[in-house]
Amino acid sequence: MVGGVNQDVTVRVDRRPTGGETTVGEGPVVGGGGKGANQAAAAAYAGAAVRLCAVVGDDAAGQEQLGSLEAAGVDVSGVRRAADVATGAALIVLTPDGENSIAVGAGANALLGADDVERALAGGDVDVVLAQTEPGTAPVVAAAREAAARGVRLVLNPAPVEGLDLDTLRAADPLVVNEHEAVDLLREHDGTFASHAPAADLARPLADLLDCPSVVVSLGAEGAVVVSGAVGSRRELRVSSPRVQAVDTTGAGDVLVGTLAARLADGADLTTAVSEACAAAAEAVTSAGARGYLG
Ligand code: ATP
Repeated sequence: MVGGVNQDVTVRVDRRPTGGETTVGEGPVVGGGGKGANQAAAAAYAGAAVRLCAVVGDDAAGQEQLGSLEAAGVDVSGVRRAADVATGAALIVLTPDGENSIAVGAGANALLGADDVERALAGGDVDVVLAQTEPGTAPVVAAAREAAARGVRLVLNPAPVEGLDLDTLRAADPLVVNEHEAVDLLREHDGTFASHAPAADLARPLADLLDCPSVVVSLGAEGAVVVSGAVGSRRELRVSSPRVQAVDTTGAGDVLVGTLAARLADGADLTTAVSEACAAAAEAVTSAGARGYLG
């Protein structure tokens, strides 16, 4: 797993503050976060042996995050601790509908480099490389290159989406994005894209644009859509998510991505892996916090 580690600071408010406004609510709740860390924890929870490639600060937050990841079963021996920089942090505002808005300070994550990735992958047998872009694009480009050189499957979650070149995106099998990321990718790389198409219709144009082996677009409570296969013989499939009472959707996408990678590493086919990943993500939204489902 190549990705970011953050300390999450969550506040619950009745109404999301608009520009210049302050709203007072409950909290803060301080916990483990970062897409890389969340996806690593989800993959470990799903039974995979996970080695995390990341950078945290040499501070109390970094120490705490590594401890909580170790407790979740993630191998953190490859996580670098950098001096004079804070561990990344995410400021999360939650509203009663279970929706969130998040501002992230990258901190030590920004120091993750191609050399960290090369070192991590030189460290032993790997079935799947899972990468996401919170620490920037350079480590992801390196992850795609190293995975290809080793004939290892790359699961790519370009979140945030900006700045990744098409060759790196094309190496993904699958590329996993939510509705917003799908739209942003199409806008960034397809000059003619101006669609207001429903979210479920975004996977096919994305697969056409990238011509990568498979694309998964997550659809929140509606589950996910999977497109796979070569041009001309593409298959599209809807996978539903179990109906649940959502308490906190923070990190739902990370549970989907981490579980999906774990199931693929286990040898599951893509549809089965997405279906099990949707079930795990649905379970996760029934508890508070990005990793609250871990107990
Ligand atoms: P987040 O940014 O909140 O982590 P996301 O926007 O990346 O999430 P979503 O598409 O919202 O990703 O959710 C990912 C997966 O989580 C969905 O495919 C679905 O399986 C599950 N999920 C999310 N919300 C719900 C919900 N209300 N009920 C059931 N399942 C849900």
